[in-house]
Amino acid sequence: MKLGISSCLLGTMCRYDGGHSRDRFITDLLTDYFEFVPFCPEKMVFTTPREAIRQVKIDDQIRVRTSNSNIDVTQKVEDISKELANQIQEDELCGFIFKSKSPTCGMERVKVYPEEKGMSENIGVGIFAQKIKDKYPLLPLEEEKRLEDAWLRENFLMQIFSYKDIFEFLKSKPKLKELVSFHTSYKYMIYAKSHQAYKELGSIVANHDKKDIDIILEDYKHAFLKAISLKGSISNTYNVLLHLYGYFKKEISKDEKTEILDSIEEFKNEFIPLIAVIKILNLYIKRFDIEYLKTQKFLNPYPKELALRSKIEAYR
Ligand code: SF4
Repeated sequence: MKLGISSCLLGTMCRYDGGHSRDRFITDLLTDYFEFVPFCPEKMVFTTPREAIRQVKIDDQIRVRTSNSNIDVTQKVEDISKELANQIQEDELCGFIFKSKSPTCGMERVKVYPEEKGMSENIGVGIFAQKIKDKYPLLPLEEEKRLEDAWLRENFLMQIFSYKDIFEFLKSKPKLKELVSFHTSYKYMIYAKSHQAYKELGSIVANHDKKDIDIILEDYKHAFLKAISLKGSISNTYNVLLHLYGYFKKEISKDEKTEILDSIEEFKNEFIPLIAVIKILNLYIKRFDIEYLKTQKFLNPYPKELALRSKIEAYR
């Protein structure tokens, strides 16, 4: 599956000043796992280089104007943004990374200037980003700057790989039995976000109302996309680790128990990263051949080379 992206983040010289905003995490790491679909709405309606544009509050409306000549270009930016957003199919992208702060691509906290002189406020949303949000409210969206935060990065990566997973799964035209297996494999990943969300997904799968499989799959997709958009927390992840430990605690020695429980506590107290605990748990899961846990996405949510779980700051 593909990842939508603001073109300038890939190194394309499409910024207003003729430069780019290449982002190494995207071009050096994510590039191995995703095909990028670049978008630069401004390049399609203006020349490059061009006069910068900015958002301006006029009465209660946000308009887009050129910075020096003060020409209103709102309609142009609106139209091209809408056109590009409409070209994207629901199952084509598994996420989108926007260029932060841009009046066109910024996802949040874009500067909005007063009409007359005065301080700007960080209250705007880029016109193009807003169109994508409106069209695909459950598509994983992030900005390159926010992805410097390990916690947001971990959550975003989990979300895009899970997003990719569900759409690929649905393309296989699964039966209810396969949906149950899919759902089970996500048990602890969703638990780490919200017990309630997993319960809701479980009741869709249980299908007490004897709905048709197509309706169940559609309901499940919607609830699943909502569930994976939630952020995980240290306390939920801690509870999941204790659950996993519960599968084999009766089979191990007192010393082994102490070692595992200590490492889970150390994770909770932010002394060691999640990967250190997972490595220990995986040893026991293999040793006791616990098939149910081997398939859990929580233990292996994305390629380990991305190494996010080795950062203590990836959890809050
Ligand atoms: S922020 Fe968006 S509109 Fe601006 S140069 Fe980058 S891709 Fe183009």
